Amino acid sequence: MATTEGINNYSVKGGQGSADVSKQMAEKYISPIVERIRLQDIAGSLDQAHKYSSDYINTIDDRPVYPDQSTIDKLDVFDTNLQNGGEDIESILESLHTYGSPASVAQTGGRYFGFVCGGILPSALASKWLTDVWDQNAALFVMSPVASKLEQVVEKWLVDLLGLPEETVAGFVSGSSTATIIGLTVGRNYLLTKAGYNVFEGGLFNAPPIKVVLGEGSHSTVYKALSIVGFGTANIVKVPVDDQGRMTADQLPRLDGRTLLILQAGHVNSGSFDDFQTICQRAKEVGAYVHVDGAFGLFAMANKRFNHLTKGVDLADSWSVDGHKTLNTPYDCGVILCRHRQQLINSMQMTGSYIIVSENRDNMVYTTEMSRRARAIEMWASLKSLGRDGVGELVWELHKKAVYFGEKLEKEGLEILNSIVFNQILVRHKDDNRTNLLLKSIQNSGVCWLGGAKWNGKSVIRISVSSFRTTYDDIDVSVKDILRLKDELEHNDSI
Ligand SMILES: *Cc1c(COP(=O)(O)O)cnc(C)c1O
Repeated sequence: MATTEGINNYSVKGGQGSADVSKQMAEKYISPIVERIRLQDIAGSLDQAHKYSSDYINTIDDRPVYPDQSTIDKLDVFDTNLQNGGEDIESILESLHTYGSPASVAQTGGRYFGFVCGGILPSALASKWLTDVWDQNAALFVMSPVASKLEQVVEKWLVDLLGLPEETVAGFVSGSSTATIIGLTVGRNYLLTKAGYNVFEGGLFNAPPIKVVLGEGSHSTVYKALSIVGFGTANIVKVPVDDQGRMTADQLPRLDGRTLLILQAGHVNSGSFDDFQTICQRAKEVGAYVHVDGAFGLFAMANKRFNHLTKGVDLADSWSVDGHKTLNTPYDCGVILCRHRQQLINSMQMTGSYIIVSENRDNMVYTTEMSRRARAIEMWASLKSLGRDGVGELVWELHKKAVYFGEKLEKEGLEILNSIVFNQILVRHKDDNRTNLLLKSIQNSGVCWLGGAKWNGKSVIRISVSSFRTTYDDIDVSVKDILRLKDELEHNDSI
């Protein structure tokens, strides 16, 4: 009972002391800690950050692509309790640079080929710095006219660049995971509304069933989105894929007006594209809803040379794509594109009849979030610095470099398991064991960084050429090291 007594004592004291409290409120309270922060020299701190950043940029190619264990161990200096008083910016920045910078992954250099990550365009980085100083809340026009204007511009540019239907709208989100959640929510509501069911009033509990159809090679974030949007595994039909991970069109189940079909532009392992022309056509004929996960592959739409991969993708209803992969914007730059403007807006509210009060673009009505940073500005700067042709050429260059990388490895006796149609390469060294050993030694060597995956049940090394920074030299250096490690492994094998 000690606790209750404590509370009683406190409340009695509080009641008795109420005159004192109001006296306290009358005085102008100033926290010495907050006051010290107010007096800090922001511009000077930014100069210090600038100096460390230059340091980082200038040495990126000389340090291991992945930090070694002793560098990672030093991160333990951050394991402290939160101190009572505040600390100076100088020492905060210094500890970040001393211990954080070396323990970061050198993604912005040219020899990081892990996952599908991309680099950071100088225009985007510098614009991010400037606009971070603005610290805009991009939710509403009235909160930031400039964020509203630039979102509107980027929406128009993307729709045009990617050759999507004119009526397509864009919502700017953290990444494809969220974009897919939104796309599938819209798809679900679109199909239910079309079936005469008011999902906004009735929710999902009494809704007519919807069949979800996707390829066996779908990305894990699609399953995550489906679960969040209210679909269980029992609602999902998985269509078998071919040896490149593409949905096999002739094994599609019967589609109808209550089917939510999810296709893929850019398989996360092989980089392959589903046959949009055939599959979207069939979906359209029966009124199914098609969402395309185009996280890194959708930018293939920016170059006609990829027409054989992307043909028909514009027939879909919604698309998710990342700026932070192929386009090389900073992270936290995803987009949901959707041709059903009103259904998207309705789906991001509860009532299903949201009225846009402003004449201008209120960004929040197209996304799950309200307060958020003005991420579209970085995309605007990226598109502005590359231009229409530049985006197309960037994507083509990534592809040609991937082909070069793959050919070099194949010539030296490594097996390439996919056809390199985009920027992804799947490499294998004889068997699972040797592939894994080779991968481990590559990851430890620090010359480049590659990830691993399973492909048709086999262990593979996965290479993604996603950064504009990567040069043919970077590839040569990486290949040379991979072959050195392979020889070492073979030498060990024979003794
Ligand atoms: C990266 C990726 C995602 C997830 O995107 P995030 O931006 O990381 O949320 C989804 N699908 C594919 C094919 C991807 O490559």
